[in-house]
Amino acid sequence: MAWRSSGRTNTALVENLWSNGLIRSPLVKAAFLSVDRAHYAPASPYEDSPQSIGHAATISAPHMHAAAVEALLEYVTEGVKERPRRVLDIGSGSGYLTQVLAELVGEGGVVVGVEHIPELKEMGERNMGKSAEGRALLDSGRCRFRVGDGRKGWAEPAPAAGQPAVGGAADSKAGDKNNEGGWDAIHVGAAAVELHEELVKQLRAPGRMFIPVGETDGWDQYIWTVNKDKDGNVKKQRGFGVRYVPLTDPPKGKRVQEEL
Ligand code: SAH
Repeated sequence: MAWRSSGRTNTALVENLWSNGLIRSPLVKAAFLSVDRAHYAPASPYEDSPQSIGHAATISAPHMHAAAVEALLEYVTEGVKERPRRVLDIGSGSGYLTQVLAELVGEGGVVVGVEHIPELKEMGERNMGKSAEGRALLDSGRCRFRVGDGRKGWAEPAPAAGQPAVGGAADSKAGDKNNEGGWDAIHVGAAAVELHEELVKQLRAPGRMFIPVGETDGWDQYIWTVNKDKDGNVKKQRGFGVRYVPLTDPPKGKRVQEEL
């Protein structure tokens, strides 16, 4: 099914994902149509397969991006008026999915992409800077890229002047709906060895995480969906089998700066 979604243009690719049932929501379709994968994938951008982006990283296949966004959608869009959405994209790599998510969170929401290789964090920003829409997302602060170890999640510092007022620290207390920490949705773009408890803790109630988890050291990986309900109860569900690059320590010689 997956490879059949390849197209000759961005529109053709998205239409194929739609007619193959991989994109099901019109909102997701509109977001995918608004972001040109050619700004993010250095070769064969409209092929429905992962592509190398250097540094042993890949931009995931379009059908995987579609599955991730469809799974997280209600935590990225619904209720935006009541409470601005906060979304974390761990292992942001090319930055493609980070931009799609930022298109969906709406004004007042924020998407933070965390990458442990500084060059890839910069690549994500550079790729997003190729379109006027991407530049606007970066300039407004709705989309931000950070360098850090995603296994620990991310505590976004309080917003600077001019940034949307949704950047409270992850452990800040509930109360001020606009400045509360944690994340409505967490996407993990690399295979973890476990369902990192710190990430579960950083989920808001309610909130949802989409995370590939490797059951062994090899390629035996599955998508897990972690749901936290409004009372804080956590349910974990194993989904389909996948192949992601691993969530690891940064390669030797790369220093992860905890950058603000
Ligand atoms: N969502 C990205 C996927 C990139 S591949 C895209 O589609 O473009 C996975 C990414 O996870 C790589 O860029 C890799 O550098 C990053 N990564 C691996 N371990 C990490 C960690 N501990 N913290 C943050 N990023 C990590």
